[in-house]
This record gives sequence, C-alpha cells and structure tokens, in this order.
Amino acid sequence: MRKNGFEAPLEPLQVLTWVLLLLIVGGFYSFIVPALARVWAIVAGLVYGVLASSTVLAGILACLKDPIDPNVRRFHQGETAAGSAADKTFCFLCQLHVNKGSRHCRYCDKCVDRFDHHCKWLNNCVGRSNYRYFVTLLVSTFFMTSIQLGISAWFAIMYHSDNAAFSDRVEGRYARLGGTGHIVLVYAFAVLVLPFLGLLAQLLGFHIMLISRNLTTYDYIVQEQRKERERKERRRILDKDKSGARHPLACCVSGERGGVDAAPAKSGQALVP
Ligand SMILES: [Zn+2]
Ligand SMILES: [Zn+2]
Repeated sequence: MRKNGFEAPLEPLQVLTWVLLLLIVGGFYSFIVPALARVWAIVAGLVYGVLASSTVLAGILACLKDPIDPNVRRFHQGETAAGSAADKTFCFLCQLHVNKGSRHCRYCDKCVDRFDHHCKWLNNCVGRSNYRYFVTLLVSTFFMTSIQLGISAWFAIMYHSDNAAFSDRVEGRYARLGGTGHIVLVYAFAVLVLPFLGLLAQLLGFHIMLISRNLTTYDYIVQEQRKERERKERRRILDKDKSGARHPLACCVSGERGGVDAAPAKSGQALVP
C-alpha cells in the first residue's frame, strides 16, 4: 500500500514535472528578470518568487499528504472503527467498511477518502485531504507560467518593433549572447512553457467547473459514462423504431402514409425518463 507520492517507484511524469519546473524557474531568473528595467525586475521577481514558492510547497504537500480513507487508516493503526456501518460502503479489496465517497485506487492499493483521481504527475492519489493543495498547485503554476509567457511576448514585441534599442539594453547584461541570442533563448523557454500553460488552463477550468458543481473527477467521469450509455440506448431504440416504421407493414398497421417521422418521435418521448 502506497503512502505518498515520494515513495518508490517514482513516475517518469513526476520526475519530468520537477525537472521542467526547475528549468522554467531557472530560465525566468536567468534570462527574463535581468533584462527588465530595475523596478519591473524587482516587482516581477518578487511576484514570480511568491508564485514559484507556492507551486513548490503545494506540489510537495500534495505529494506528501496521504489521502487514505480514515477507516482504513484506523484499521492499520489497530484502532476500532468509528461510526456505524449503515452510512458506509464495503470495499471488497480492503475488506473494510469505508466512507461512501471513498474509492479503491489500484495504483495505491488503498481506499481514498472523497477520491478525485490518481495523479501521475504527483505519483499520488488526489482526495479529500490533498485536493486543496492540488488546486493551489494548479492556480499558482498557471499564474507563474502566464507571467513568464506574458513578459516573453512583450520582449518579442520590443525586439521586433525597435531592435536596436532592445538589443542595446539587453547587450549590457548579456554581452556574449547579444540581442538576437537573448531573444532566441526567450523563445526557447516560451516554447517550453506554452504547452504547460495550455494543459494547466484546461485542467484549472475543469476543476473550477467541478468545484462549482460539487463533483469529483471520478463522479464526473461516471456521470458522463452514464449519459453516454443513455444516449446510445436512446439512439438504438430510435433506430429500431425507424426501421420498424419503414417496414412495408408499418403503414398498414398505423393506417397512415408517411408516418415514419411521427412514430419514432412518439416512441422516443415515451422512453425518455
Ligand atoms: Zn479499498
Ligand atoms: Zn492512487
């Protein structure tokens, strides 16, 4: 049974995330902050520093926190079960009564309280006890990378609109690189950050929707699968009705001509709950 995300074996995606994060933060303080005017360098450096610290801290806490179901934890600590079995559900894999929102994760081999999903980026399950750290991680990384990409875009505009002035300023700090060498590096880091930011925006939007509906990722997937099954079932019944109505005998039975559209509509409505 896995306890947290730092336990071996580590996930390749998890290692890649930390390496990428280090590279992105290193790139910001090496090639973006020094190229800014003094006041802006202090402001951007401080704001980015707070966001980067929040990202690292939230990432460590989301990895370290064990989102195990409290009933399973109590059992393994040799304590007696709390609460009645009536408001719990039975997990055949743990062989224990667990909270109703708990689900058994096959990667972690334990029941997770208010299971959201198993995150390969964290190498840990996301549940009740670490969901807030997971969302904090998404929010701070999103704003951190947005600032980085925003300033990179501003540099690109300055470089292309007044190449000489921008190069003069940058060459004072990056004599070896020159204005062009510096902008190439800024572009390289922007290419690294852009897919990261796209993924984060998508994830953050998805979790804002889940929070507003008081759903977990697991609930949402189950709900969507159920809707899809119902859609397929409705389509199957409608198709069956249509093919029945096209049957030569269908007109004789209904006594109508061109009753193909009317028949399925009525049947379809009757079947919709
Ligand atoms: Zn279980
Ligand atoms: Zn898990």
